[in-house]
Amino acid sequence: MSVKTDLKSLDRGALGAFAKGSGLPAYRAGQLIHWIYERNAGTIEEITEFSKKLRQELAAKAFISRLQLKTALSSEDGTRKFLFGLSDGNAIESVLIPDGKRLTLCISSQAGCRMGCGFCLTGKIGFKRDLLPHEIVDQFLLARQLALPETLTNIVFMGMGEPLDNLDNVAEAIKRITAFARFSKRRITVSTSGVAPGIREFAAKASGVKLAVSINAATDSVRSSIMPINRKYPLQKLIAALRDFPLAPRDRITIEYVLLKRVNDAQADAKALAGLLRGIPCKINLIPYNGPENCENGRAFNMPDENTTMAFQDVLVRAGHTAIIRKSKGKDILAACGQLAGKG
Ligand code: SF4
Repeated sequence: MSVKTDLKSLDRGALGAFAKGSGLPAYRAGQLIHWIYERNAGTIEEITEFSKKLRQELAAKAFISRLQLKTALSSEDGTRKFLFGLSDGNAIESVLIPDGKRLTLCISSQAGCRMGCGFCLTGKIGFKRDLLPHEIVDQFLLARQLALPETLTNIVFMGMGEPLDNLDNVAEAIKRITAFARFSKRRITVSTSGVAPGIREFAAKASGVKLAVSINAATDSVRSSIMPINRKYPLQKLIAALRDFPLAPRDRITIEYVLLKRVNDAQADAKALAGLLRGIPCKINLIPYNGPENCENGRAFNMPDENTTMAFQDVLVRAGHTAIIRKSKGKDILAACGQLAGKG
């Protein structure tokens, strides 16, 4: 018995080749793209633009894969978290975050992660595997459906995994989300833990997509103690890559800084951060830590108190930076990255 082709796994060229190999005119590939990516067809049978005979012929040799929704949780604050099962049994998470008029989807780029950040549960799960382009795109297609009647306004690659550690598949997924599903690339942000050479490659492969960097410390000693990636690409290399990142005139890089009590929340840390980022067009998101305590080998990570957080912000603002305090959302549904998959 021949193996059926998963139409969702095919890029533009491969879909064209599939249509040709099936004796179909080229425009059929465009129709398949329209039905899969814009009309969310989950089976070939749903493509009613095709005759019944054509649907039967295609269904004999192809199918449309779909991630399996295993768990959906809703938070009091409107955040919704989904656990999706992959065909090999691994699980990944996507989170829908409402914020005023925005509805942001946070998606995963890998099952697990090899970066091992001390404050992150996905880091504890370890690395399972890279997601394939269609597994990344499918989180968007399913969440877009689950969000109805509301419309997704933004996508951030801040879920499980380091996107720049799976850059080719992330770039291909972005290509399909923008070209096939017609989502604006200016509303997509890819967040890295600091893979410096990947930032340059990302600029070339996903031009126009926004960049966020999870920096979390302004000195190499503190950063290396909570983010092992810093031993490979210390701050000097990371900042050099940020200075080279091509930006459109009014665009800025987003800097994420998770505030950890007595780890990176001192006034001296804020001053060092302000100096480090001087001259880089950026906005800084300060995120008081909201994860579980005693996260790393008994080491306690806690949320700083409000005064400390505000004083930290004040130093940055006085130095001329845009710094915004972001409240973590969805705490009651384990919305921080890896918390749900880690339960599985
Ligand atoms: S914070 Fe991001 S890069 Fe770091 S371990 Fe977690 S998923 Fe990986």
